[in-house]
Amino acid sequence: MVELLGEAGLPDATRRAKQYPHEFSGGMRQRALIAIGLAARPKLLIADEPTPALDVTVQQQILTHLDHLTAELGVVESGPAMEILLNPPHPYTQRLVASAPSLASQRMRSSLIRTQVKVEAVETAQEVARETILEDALPGEMLKKSLPDNVIVVENLTKVFKIRGGAPGSSSSFKAVDNVSFALKRGTTTAIVGESGSGKSTVAQMVPRLLPPTEGSVFFDGHDISQYRGRELLALRRRMQPIFQNPYGSLDPMYSIYRTIEEPLRTHKVGNKKSRDKKVRQLLDKVSLSATAMRRFPNELPGGQRQRVAIARALALDPEVVICDEAVSALDVLVQAQVLTLLNDLQAELV
Ligand code: ADP
Ligand code: MG
Repeated sequence: MVELLGEAGLPDATRRAKQYPHEFSGGMRQRALIAIGLAARPKLLIADEPTPALDVTVQQQILTHLDHLTAELGVVESGPAMEILLNPPHPYTQRLVASAPSLASQRMRSSLIRTQVKVEAVETAQEVARETILEDALPGEMLKKSLPDNVIVVENLTKVFKIRGGAPGSSSSFKAVDNVSFALKRGTTTAIVGESGSGKSTVAQMVPRLLPPTEGSVFFDGHDISQYRGRELLALRRRMQPIFQNPYGSLDPMYSIYRTIEEPLRTHKVGNKKSRDKKVRQLLDKVSLSATAMRRFPNELPGGQRQRVAIARALALDPEVVICDEAVSALDVLVQAQVLTLLNDLQAELV
């Protein structure tokens, strides 16, 4: 079993095998699934988008590994990857490759004409990355004082988890986040980039205090939120909303789409029934879903539409900050492009 986990690209498999799914990052869970798929050395492996939730280095590792296995077991492959990336014959593949966010595929296709939107998106991302790097170079105190329009300042955030040991009652600790500092300027996007398991989701959960940090502080609008309790925390959550990685797991299957989007408004006692109804319709329109979607349930909608619902819900309270934890990685690349464009437009519109 440890060997299979190693094969699927999970480092430190011996220790990891003792853990539970909720203690794994999204990418690590996917690798556990791949290990299950490979366990009995099947003659035919049906892979339904097994890697989009993983970061590119792990994607490559797994695809290479599957490639080796198919070669070993003598299965015939069709279509060299370069050929398909550079010169896709089918129109769907053409659009697919054009929307692929991976930098490797971008570079390979650099000779191809890219759509204007795509180029702009890449340039914006690069600008944002440059800004962030500059700000990161400043020490934590200066970050806060020199830039008053910082809506969030994170200082020396650290998280240590306990990992269950072999013997009952024994455990070891694991540093998932090590001394992270950054600032988020109002009206801009800050991206945290790192390999699967490097602690991105843990940071995303500590910033809105869904998870308490072991060390370090988070400032929202200049206030240290580490001492916030009850009412203060509720007020904070109203101003800072998350969109999670997996739209299949983050929506309540028993709630209609209407109730899903209305819930934050009700929790925070915003408006009356009539005004909330109006707001839900506006939100659906904003994320390009028809009003008829209101009466449906999450399981009746494909992933892309579910993630739009999650976005509508996150925007219901007009938050000042939206935290997206790989909000599009579970979606296919065409829908990814749509959702990212939508978030970009909304940012420009709502600032
Ligand atoms: P990322 O989002 O960058 O892929 P995560 O923040 O999800 O990574 O996880 C970072 C590390 O912390 C991983 O090694 C993961 O196994 C570990 N981890 C996350 N949550 C827990 C938990 N509740 N208990 C123990 N370890 C955890
Ligand atoms: Mg993650």
